[in-house]
Amino acid sequence: MRISFAAAEVAPYAKVGGLADVVGSLPQALAALGHEVSVYLPLHRSIDVVKFAIPAKSARTHSVPYGAAHARIAYPEITRDGVRFVFVRSFRIGRDKVYGYADDAKRYALFCRAVLADLEETKPDVIHAHDWHAALLVQLAARSRKLPGSATVFTIHNLAYQGRTSADVLRLVGLPRSRLAVEGRDEANPMARAIATADIVSTVSERYAEEILTPEFGERLEGLLRDRRDDLWGITNGIDTTFFDPSRDPHIAAHYTADDQSGKAVCKAALQTETGLTVQPSAPVFGVIGRLVEQKGVDLLTAVAPWLLDKGGQLVVLGAGDPTYEQRWRELAQKMKGRLALTLGFDAALAQRIYAGSDMFLMPSRFEPCGLGQLISLRYGTVPVVRAVGGLANTVRDIDGDARGNGFSFTKYEAAGFADAIERALHRYRAGGQPWLALRTRAMREDHSWKASARRYVEMYGAAAKARRAA
Ligand code: ADP
Repeated sequence: MRISFAAAEVAPYAKVGGLADVVGSLPQALAALGHEVSVYLPLHRSIDVVKFAIPAKSARTHSVPYGAAHARIAYPEITRDGVRFVFVRSFRIGRDKVYGYADDAKRYALFCRAVLADLEETKPDVIHAHDWHAALLVQLAARSRKLPGSATVFTIHNLAYQGRTSADVLRLVGLPRSRLAVEGRDEANPMARAIATADIVSTVSERYAEEILTPEFGERLEGLLRDRRDDLWGITNGIDTTFFDPSRDPHIAAHYTADDQSGKAVCKAALQTETGLTVQPSAPVFGVIGRLVEQKGVDLLTAVAPWLLDKGGQLVVLGAGDPTYEQRWRELAQKMKGRLALTLGFDAALAQRIYAGSDMFLMPSRFEPCGLGQLISLRYGTVPVVRAVGGLANTVRDIDGDARGNGFSFTKYEAAGFADAIERALHRYRAGGQPWLALRTRAMREDHSWKASARRYVEMYGAAAKARRAA
């Protein structure tokens, strides 16, 4: 099949969170299965065109209708690991940051219109749009007379961000204003439009696919999602196991494998030294990496942190996000020097060293479409302690309920439950010996590569093509 992806962020070119990891690794897995994949992303100003040899000058261009005028778009591209990456270049779209501007809705609407212009020439079998930034592409493609044979798939990576904006944006890209029931007056909801229009809708874990049908997780789109229930798929994300690999990761102090984990202790000591923690081999080190936003359970983390440090734990936190949460962590870190190491900001290399050097990884999310932190942790033999919600529930099995478990979990969103899970983890860690080693080994041996999930995506594309033919 010929499959075209569109997304706002793609690793390693531009990354804010898990979306970039997925769109940066699933295409290669599909290419390995014999499919022809291209990936469209904006040419953000932060993308290093020299390092990635992106031929900005020799690109083809299209003149794309945009409101009353036209926008000139260039499409420089490179091929890597058998996948074509097409960078959509326009001064109206490219900025230093991927998100966070008042006109994000317009930037991404133009991105969608620009991708459509190119796809109308290549006419892929499947157009696969990711999250709200690429959502209007689904409706544009469905209405295009030049793309009658292209099936559309829309994947929800996070239902909480829908891109709701003024309906003016529709006029800019030539879409009708006719409203969906969930849209307010003069409002456009790109994510809702893609859910209503795509041949197939999917999300990034089986559990989240069920949860979003309920008011608790549905973000007010549960009714619309229930209407599409028969076309809604849940496929759990994989990770790039070549990139996330403790036996060859260039960023970590020592390499190790499931068979010989001695290097992990070296990574731990190096992490303690680097982040200013007391260098103590026996102290349990807990890692936290993620956006500091309500979704990630930051209030539970800050509530249990003092208790955890009193119990002799050490905490390494890397994240950026909500200024109120950042300030709260700053204050805690001030008080707990030597036991709590805080890095505010985005640092992919430090993230690898935390995954490798920690004993346990904390992820008490309020909701979690899939979550990649726990998968990367497992790969590095770092035992996850998570809330059993969304993709975390699909990928982490509590060892206290399952002898073949790979971590610890709790159900209710409460500090007491989280503390209890940590306490059980601490108990097993301190008991140490063969059982702890066996737990780590099992975690490291699990297969969280794209192998199985990529096949499910292919099945889903088949269902999308069939739905398109029927339509
Ligand atoms: P989300 O996509 O909701 O942010 P995920 O767990 O799905 O959460 O994916 C987050 C990805 O981004 C992981 O690869 C994680 O390691 C990485 N990440 C998150 N915050 C940071 C940070 N501050 N520095 C480096 N990597 C980060």
